[in-house]
Formats: sequence, structure tokens, C-alpha cells
Amino acid sequence: VPVVEALSAHKTYGNGTQALAPTDFTLMPGEFVSLIGPSGCGKSTLLKLVAGLLSPTDGRLRWWRGGAETLDEPGRRLAFVFQEATLMPWARVAENVRLPLDLHHVPRAEGDARVAAALARVGLSRYARHFPRELSGGMQMRVSIARALVTEPDLLLMDEPFGALDEITRNRLDDDLRRLWSERGLTALFVTHSVYEAAFLSTRVVVMAARPGRVFKEISIDHDGPRD
Ligand code: ADP
Ligand code: ADP
Repeated sequence: VPVVEALSAHKTYGNGTQALAPTDFTLMPGEFVSLIGPSGCGKSTLLKLVAGLLSPTDGRLRWWRGGAETLDEPGRRLAFVFQEATLMPWARVAENVRLPLDLHHVPRAEGDARVAAALARVGLSRYARHFPRELSGGMQMRVSIARALVTEPDLLLMDEPFGALDEITRNRLDDDLRRLWSERGLTALFVTHSVYEAAFLSTRVVVMAARPGRVFKEISIDHDGPRD
């Protein structure tokens, strides 16, 4: 049973821009799929459709959970990491990571434990009481990833999360993500401009073409790494 399916989903924005031609796309549990293609080919649009942040102009999206279709909301088990670390500057690192748990009314003690575990996973336990401005860009990105993972999502969506980072930080985060994926069986879909990242991290590369945006080619990658 897939995690999410797009069935002939296409998107034309209000100003007439045809961002995505009718597209069929399936994401299976445990897949780590990268979306690559030129600027403006509809990568972010497809990601937002999958997230339920946008509705398709026509066609439909289907989300599945525990073998059953969930018509209403992909929301609760989905986490999004944006291009920039969108942390609240007035809140400490641990409070930032805690936010989604507070929104879901997770009890205090359980929340503390989950925040601590999420920060440990991204190697930032020592920075729980720091403010975002005291951290480097790469560390802030890791806080954003911890905040996404603290909800224990079924599906992690990332829109060029490491675009603004230097290569060393980026490689370190790639390693973090790869480890999380192999340890936790996360399903992920991410936009990247890095062919290296697509090849290193993903189990499938979806190549998109522009005008109007469409899936041009899909390439499966066998890693003889963690999964096998
Ligand atoms: P709002 O915040 O009011 O939704 P936006 O900043 O998203 O406004 O968009 C303002 C206008 O620019 C809209 O007409 C929208 O269709 C257009 N627009 C937004 N993003 C893009 C984009 N990436 N490419 C082309 N047009 C865009
Ligand atoms: P990518 O992520 O591959 O760069 P996008 O999905 O952001 O592509 O955009 C696909 C096309 O839709 C582009 O031509 C872009 O300018 C346009 N677009 C994106 N968002 C909006 C919007 N809110 N309103 C109008 N046009 C948009």
C-alpha cells in the first residue's frame, strides 16, 4: 500500500501558469525519492500537492495510513522541512523542537523525552537551551530537521533543505539523513539541485522537465547499504 499517490494531478496557478502537467506519482513506504530538474519545472508544486498544502487543479491525491485511505488530512503524520531553517528566534532550541508536540497536546514528560531524543539524533543535545541565533546555519537546519522528526512522521517532505549550506555541513546532514532513513524506515520525498545528493541518498530519482512541468524519467537506485 502506498503512502501517497497522485492520480493525473495537475496544477495551473491562478495567474494562468501551468506548473504541472497531469502527473501520476506513487510513493511507497520506505522509499527515499529525490526530485531533480531545472528551476521552474514544478518540483515544489509537486511537493506541495503531496503535502496537501495545495489542491490540484484537476486529478487527485490519495493518502494512505495503516492500509486504509485517509481522505481528509495527510497532516498529522507528515513533516515538512523548508529551504531555510524557519525557527522562532525568541524561543530556545528545545522549545522550537517542542512546538509540534505542544500543538498535538503531547504530555509534558513524554514531550521532554521526545525532544531530547530528537536533539540527540541530530547531535545537538548540548544546545537545547541556546537560542537559534547562537547556532550556525547548519546547526539551525539540524534543529529544523529535529523539529520535523520529533513528530515521528510517516512522510518527510523536504524542499531543498540544504541549498544554502556549505559542502561540509551539507555532507554531514546527508549522512544524518541517510542514517535516520536506514534506522527508522522513514519515507521521504525531497527536492535537490545536487546530483550527488540524489544518488547518495535516494532509492529513486524522479527527473522532471519544464513547460509544462512533468515527470520525464524515473531511475531506481539499488544501495547495497543500510536497507539490504
Ligand atoms: P500571497 O502571499 O498573497 O499568496 P504570493 O506572494 O504567493 O501572494 O504571490 C503573489 C503573486 O505572485 C500571485 O499572483 C502569485 O500567483 C504570483 N506568484 C507567486 N509565486 C510565484 C512564482 N514562483 N512564480 C510566478 N508567480 C508567482
Ligand atoms: P520548481 O520548484 O521546480 O522551481 P515550482 O513548482 O516552484 O518549480 O514552479 C513551477 C512553475 O510555476 C514556475 O513557472 C513558477 O514560476 C510557477 N509558480 C510557482 N508558484 C506559483 C504561484 N504561487 N503562482 C503562480 N505561479 C507559480
